[in-house]
Amino acid sequence: MTKLDIHMFPCLSDNYGFLVHDSATRATASIDTPEVGPIEAALKQKGWRLTHIMNTHHHFDHAGGNLELKKKWQCTIVGPRADADRIPGIDVQVGDGDVFTLGESKAKVFDVPGHTRGHIAYYFADAKVAFVGDTLFALGCGRLFEGTPQQMWTSLSKLAALPDDTRVYCAHEYTQSNARFALTVEPDNAALVRRAEEIEAARSRGEATVPTTIGLEKATNPFLRPTSRDLMRTIGLEGRDPVTVFAETRKRKDHF
Ligand code: ZN
Ligand code: FE
Repeated sequence: MTKLDIHMFPCLSDNYGFLVHDSATRATASIDTPEVGPIEAALKQKGWRLTHIMNTHHHFDHAGGNLELKKKWQCTIVGPRADADRIPGIDVQVGDGDVFTLGESKAKVFDVPGHTRGHIAYYFADAKVAFVGDTLFALGCGRLFEGTPQQMWTSLSKLAALPDDTRVYCAHEYTQSNARFALTVEPDNAALVRRAEEIEAARSRGEATVPTTIGLEKATNPFLRPTSRDLMRTIGLEGRDPVTVFAETRKRKDHF
C-alpha cells in the first residue's frame, strides 16, 4: 500500500495549508493555495516538488495562489468541474464519484455544494483522510454563500457517511468560536462540553485543533446533529425534519 504524507501549516489569518505527498512517486499536491509564501516555505522544508494543486472551491483564500504556483512549478491544477470557469489555471476537471490519482494514491471526489455551488471534497480512503475545504469545520460548517440549507445538509451527510476514524482536514481554525456557539444550541451534550474544554485549553497553548475526525464531529458538531433532541428543544423545533433544524442552526450561527 502506498504511503501518503501530510504536512499542515498556517496561512493568512486563520487558514491552513496542506501538502499531500505520495511517497512512492514523490507526487506532491497542495490542497488549495491560500498563500504562496508559506506553501513555498513548506515545500522547501520538506524537500518536495509541487506537481499538483487540488482545489476545493474558488474563493480567493483557496485558489488565490494557483497561477503564481503554476507558473513556477508547471504543476497540474485539479478542481471542480461545476466551477471550472472560476478556478484559475484549471487543467483537470473532477466531480462527484470521480477518482483522481495523485501518484499512486487515489482520492475520491465528492460534490459538496452549499458554501459555494461548485465546492468539492477529496477523500483518500486508503490513508483515511478527507480534505473538506470550507464545507465541514471542527464543530462547524461553511456559510451558505451560494447554496440552500437542503444542499448543504445533503453535502454534510455525504461526509458524515465516511468511516468514523477518517481524519478531516478543514481549511480554517475556527474551532474555538464554533465551540462557544455549539454550547449555546446543545448545552446538555456531555461530549461537546468536554471537547469545548479541551479546545479552550489547546488554543490557549496555541495548538491547532485540525484535523478532527468524522466520529468526533458526529458526536459533537451541531451541524451534523439536527436529529439531536437537545438541539431541537433548545432552538424550539422539536420533532421537525433535519433540513429545517439544520437551517435554523446555521441561521443562528450567522448571527452569533
Ligand atoms: Zn470559502
Ligand atoms: Fe475559506
